[in-house]
Amino acid sequence: MDDKELLERIEALGADEIDALRRLPAKIVPKVCEPDAALAVELGLPFVGGDVFTDGSIGSRTAALAQPYADAPTCGALRFRDDELEAFFADADRLGVAAGVHAIGDAAIDQCVAAWERVLNGKPSARGARHFIEHFECARPEHIEACARMNLHLSMQPLFDAQWGGAGGMYETRLGTARMRGMNALASIVRAGAVLCGGDDAPVCPLDPLAGMRACVEHHEATERLTPHDALAAYTVNAARLAYAETRTGNLAPGLAADLVVLDRDPFEDGFGDCTVLETWSDWRVVYRT
Ligand SMILES: [Zn+2]
Repeated sequence: MDDKELLERIEALGADEIDALRRLPAKIVPKVCEPDAALAVELGLPFVGGDVFTDGSIGSRTAALAQPYADAPTCGALRFRDDELEAFFADADRLGVAAGVHAIGDAAIDQCVAAWERVLNGKPSARGARHFIEHFECARPEHIEACARMNLHLSMQPLFDAQWGGAGGMYETRLGTARMRGMNALASIVRAGAVLCGGDDAPVCPLDPLAGMRACVEHHEATERLTPHDALAAYTVNAARLAYAETRTGNLAPGLAADLVVLDRDPFEDGFGDCTVLETWSDWRVVYRT
């Protein structure tokens, strides 16, 4: 199935609840947070999962690590057996549904990437499904290479680095300096050619894409800082790709919806942090004005 056929198929699907969500003024892309691809098909959704937990979090020392935490004798824990995760992914890919899971620790990311390697035979989905991994915080270089190769989209939260990265931060306390420095490897992901999508995991981080873009360009680890252009792409064109929406939104081009904000200054000159939104446009209409 090529991209066009897949988009037509998504357009043709629909269910009352999902349609109701789609009629809200914000552009919402709902996902069913269950490892059940058939249910997603029934509901007319092209995605399944998202925050289906394969592990926990760094803060609660429940993210699954290959080596113990720096401040407690535990490695966290995986929540799925290998065969369970593989069955979920295989089902989703067979149905052409994009599947995603929450994977934070390196052991969880390892399990997730290894399951995709088996299901996809190391290549992008033959059905064009844009499978994805949420968080991807403790990824190693080989995980990044594998995700780029299999076109696994990486749905990440740059504000995690702003909140927990750097000397004396929560990541360093829980993981030590060496592991802390490899986390949220945004620029490595862009360099590898993987699709990086910016998000906020609200309410863990504030719903503030400008703050997220600022976190991208001000990453605590200098080698992982994004250019303003790549930061903007993560929150716009790449996020639209994750939603199969790039032919409708995510960019300013003829034929696409006028979904945009008017800022009081140029973020490419002055940074994203000090910008004020003057207007927000959605579908060719002003929906917010200061
Ligand atoms: Zn999560």
